[in-house]
Amino acid sequence: MMNKQKGKLLVVSGPSGCGKGTVLKKVLKENSNIYYSVSATTRAPRYGEENGIHYYFITKEEFEKKISEGGMLEYAEYVGNYYGTPKDIVLAKLEKGYDVILEIEVKGAMQIRKAVPEAILVFIAPPSMEELEKRLIGRGTEKLDVIKSRLKKAEKEMQYQNEYDYLVINDEISIAAEEIAAILKSEKLKINKN
Ligand code: ADP
Ligand code: 5GP
Repeated sequence: MMNKQKGKLLVVSGPSGCGKGTVLKKVLKENSNIYYSVSATTRAPRYGEENGIHYYFITKEEFEKKISEGGMLEYAEYVGNYYGTPKDIVLAKLEKGYDVILEIEVKGAMQIRKAVPEAILVFIAPPSMEELEKRLIGRGTEKLDVIKSRLKKAEKEMQYQNEYDYLVINDEISIAAEEIAAILKSEKLKINKN
């Protein structure tokens, strides 16, 4: 008996500034069956960021209320702010057959590993730490002290690579995007043994 396959849950992590947003934007442009999960956060919007598109920008109180109601699939604190994945919409999209991408940091990814064992975990790394620093400075969206704390955090995050299923190095944007699409494609071709 053939069951209608539900969508795949793809978790993507990597240090801030390695290019996750840039690469995933390309993946989404080229693959229409993917839903990119919009997270909630307590951090302030960056220039050009819109509520409901890049994040749901909410207060600490609203965030904590959502946690207590069990409304977050996972959440974590990152450099002084909360970030979390709203549960209902992700589960609804998977049920409808969409593949869902969560772009989240490592602690959240480990929570997903436990809560959704069939999730696919992809780590995106920069070609080098020097290049990461260049990209963070080049993006120009954070002050130097925030860049410094994100770089410090990056060293720790890189140690989590081995907990992931796949490693993609973002040297060339288009190659990294192709690799992520290829991972998703082969996971969809896998024979379900259960
Ligand atoms: P993240 O989402 O991981 O924080 P971004 O997507 O915002 O990172 O990328 C950080 C900066 O690096 C941006 O200015 C982006 O244009 C640049 N960037 C992303 N990927 C590459 C790449 N492969 N080569 C050079 N610059 C890149
Ligand atoms: P930024 O402030 O640069 O947008 O994001 C900071 C970090 O938080 C990034 O590593 C990003 O992947 C992560 N992040 C974004 N949304 C979520 C989320 O919903 N949950 C968790 N755990 N991390 C998130």
